Amino acid sequence: MDLESLNTIAILDAQREYMDMNEEDALNEENALNEENEENAMREGETEMQEPEQGDTQAAGTTQATQPQGRQPRKRRLTSKVWEDFTSVGVESDGKERGQCNYCGKKLVINTRTHGTHHLSRHLDTCPEKPKAVDRPAYDHQIDREMTSEIIIYHDLPFRYAEYEKVRAKDLYLNPDCKPICRQTAVADVFRRYEIEKEKLRNVFAKHQGRVCFTSDLWVALPTTMGYLCLTASFIDDDWRLNNKVLAFCVARCPHTGGELASTIIECLKDWGLEKKVFSFTLDNATNNDSMLRILKGQLQMMSGSGLLCDGKFMHVRCCAHILNLIVKDGLELAKNLLHDIRESVRYVKASPQRIQSFAACVERVRPRITGGADLSLDVSTRWNSTYDMLVRALKFRAAFESMASFDTHYKTLPSAADWDRGAKICELLKPFSVITKIVLRAPIPEAIQLIPFLE
Ligand SMILES: [Zn+2]
Repeated sequence: MDLESLNTIAILDAQREYMDMNEEDALNEENALNEENEENAMREGETEMQEPEQGDTQAAGTTQATQPQGRQPRKRRLTSKVWEDFTSVGVESDGKERGQCNYCGKKLVINTRTHGTHHLSRHLDTCPEKPKAVDRPAYDHQIDREMTSEIIIYHDLPFRYAEYEKVRAKDLYLNPDCKPICRQTAVADVFRRYEIEKEKLRNVFAKHQGRVCFTSDLWVALPTTMGYLCLTASFIDDDWRLNNKVLAFCVARCPHTGGELASTIIECLKDWGLEKKVFSFTLDNATNNDSMLRILKGQLQMMSGSGLLCDGKFMHVRCCAHILNLIVKDGLELAKNLLHDIRESVRYVKASPQRIQSFAACVERVRPRITGGADLSLDVSTRWNSTYDMLVRALKFRAAFESMASFDTHYKTLPSAADWDRGAKICELLKPFSVITKIVLRAPIPEAIQLIPFLE
């Protein structure tokens, strides 16, 4: 049998079933069915419900009188939409056929040949238990992908997030139509997002009438000794809001000489169309930065004529946090030996869990003289503020160290009273630097005026 014959049979089947419908339903469905194509007719034929066997036989008994003699009643099909919310319970003891609401359980007499299904529809309109239809937008795979890339960027997640088993399971639970993506797709989406945002910012800079201040720093990643350069831009927009944007985080080619760094930065500035809008560069006080800025100034002057403000006299701003760091590190170098016993005491306690435990017992013994506070911390040579933290905490536990020395014969480096006094004095000296550094590093908009009270 060819496809055309199969279609013809399907249409005939559908028409026969259509004739079979009760009058009410037929009327309701007529318009819709006329418009449906052959495939729809086939599908409808397949999905129609049939009444349960028991109800069917009993119903047949009650309607027997109206049937011509000798003709078996055909199985009546319940095609109305209301049967998605009602279930036929068949003929009950009073001889009436009923349908039961799927939500509240209420039973209503049905006789579709005489009453139709309007009263069932009316019940569904007012049924107190029927869940309200939620106007939910259809699943859009593109929006799903955009949201996934947004999650990865916003929460700083690995691209593997898109493949996390439990995340996928939850997505599928929330929407069975959800199509998962692999991490390569997530990478492509995130990069596309970056390109879109970059283009937007480029347009902002193109329209920007004022100048832009830049900050740059260099890191070396220890395992690979690869150098990275970060360039940020700060500018005041037309609404007088201060904006800070990271323009580049790129590999800085070795060696990190002034010339190499200058050409990397020039490339970035050209990429963003900002080479003629430079106001200042804030940099660490390193010598290669001095030569870098000299080269940069020369190149920018060539590119923009006499475009630098005051001929670039104030272009180089030296990073305040870095200068502070250098000052304090130099000062602490002189006091290094003075803090020897305090540092060794902290190191002694932190050397093993047993010692930490016995030190905790000492703290309990002298408890009224020690209130609250965090544990001991040991300093590291590269961060002077770690020395300040170490001193603050060790000074607080002075009584506990003295208690430990009285019974722990291995503990030999208990600081003398003079050591503790010197430690307290150094701590006092470092305090304003610690406060200033916190202001400079943590303030959303650090300003020189915030530091003046501490420098007096
Ligand atoms: Zn109901």
